[in-house]
Amino acid sequence: MVLNDHVDLPTFMQGVSKRNPGQTEFIQAVQEVAVDIFDFMEDKERYHKEQILRRIAEPDRVISFRVCWEDDNGNVRVQRGWRVQNNNAIGPYKGGIRFHPSVTESVLKFLAFEQTFKNALTGLPMGGAKGGSNFNPKGKSDHEVMRFCQSFMTELYRHVGADVDVPAGDIGVGAREIGYMFGQYKRITNQFTGVLTGKGLEYGGSLIRTEATGYGAVYFLANMLKTKNDDLVGKVAVISGSGNVATHAAEKVAMLGGKVVTMSDSAGFIHDPDGMTQEKIDWIKQLKNVRRGRISEYVNEFKGATYHEGMRPWGVPCDVALPCATQNELLGDDARELIKNGCIAVSEGANMPTNLEGVHVFKDAKILFAPGKAANAGGVAVSGLEMSQNSGRISWKADQLQQLLVDIMDGIHGSCVEYGQTKGGYCDYVRGANIAGFKKVADAMLAFGVV
Ligand code: GLU
Repeated sequence: MVLNDHVDLPTFMQGVSKRNPGQTEFIQAVQEVAVDIFDFMEDKERYHKEQILRRIAEPDRVISFRVCWEDDNGNVRVQRGWRVQNNNAIGPYKGGIRFHPSVTESVLKFLAFEQTFKNALTGLPMGGAKGGSNFNPKGKSDHEVMRFCQSFMTELYRHVGADVDVPAGDIGVGAREIGYMFGQYKRITNQFTGVLTGKGLEYGGSLIRTEATGYGAVYFLANMLKTKNDDLVGKVAVISGSGNVATHAAEKVAMLGGKVVTMSDSAGFIHDPDGMTQEKIDWIKQLKNVRRGRISEYVNEFKGATYHEGMRPWGVPCDVALPCATQNELLGDDARELIKNGCIAVSEGANMPTNLEGVHVFKDAKILFAPGKAANAGGVAVSGLEMSQNSGRISWKADQLQQLLVDIMDGIHGSCVEYGQTKGGYCDYVRGANIAGFKKVADAMLAFGVV
């Protein structure tokens, strides 16, 4: 067997599937990257010889642990926790923590793999990781969430650190959960360090971090439109999700003159043909963050809006779409429906919300399509800036951070165009993001030798 020879893409993917049985999300994420990287590597012998993609697609380590906690009725509950440390070639491991019943090792491995490329694209020194648990915070009391977070951190603390691995939020993990986990880390280690990002402003958090993912996804969208001498003024936007990413994306679309007509949660979506004003968006933020309610309640508050149980918003005619909920929420048929209705641009606020078929539909139609690893990188970018502020024990001002976010998103857009521009004039942002992210990590790995 010739191990270091050029394996072709199908053989490579067969190996990935064989080594990761049943891990469909992880295999999907690797496939999406591998297609472009194999093309890029064709005339680059060293990447092949040193098995770089094979190494990036094998996490440095997967830590799995038991998390026991007691609910308010005194029942003992048992959950599984994970931290997937995918790659630290260019900086400490970095990536969010997700608490959701759908969390599996496959989901976290795909997210950690994606995070490696995303973090490289930001230009900041951060490796890729992801963690989480199948714990469902929905319907739990604050004290139950606190006890769970404390128990989770009681194991996680030995695997993380400001220069080792810096987790943050993701689905089901926001300011409340980060506060509980930071409190427990500090209690166990007796150290006040930047071990987590997305912290409260009182204890080392950064301004603009909350807004960064959603705002960044819209800056990226505006950058794509600009290449066509277009902008968001008067554009109808369909957004999925109603969490931190979705609400801030909606806010920025509205600020830039667009009209947001949908938001959703796992139970259904609301359609507000009048568009969402800042007041309406603030109401949703309150609903989700304070009352922890469901998006269906929107229609009782704002007349003219309708609720669509069990459906996703992709059938609502729009100019631009921002999937900001979760992976594989936009499938091939949804993509075809969007194109049919005249959608000209899609910017992914979530991680891998469009499945492989959907991505092909967008690419074939040659619309502007930004993959999550580029479009939603603003969140982790400001996390990187939070790390810098923590290391220097300083706080930067909102307008400085705002400008840095704009600059970083411009930079990512530029990298995607550099590597994604095709001869026919179409920019393949997926290809651009994959190659630009890969190149940085790969070249660092080459410098280290076989490790
Ligand atoms: N969970 C976010 C992401 O998917 C943010 C990660 C971070 O700030 O470390 O990029």
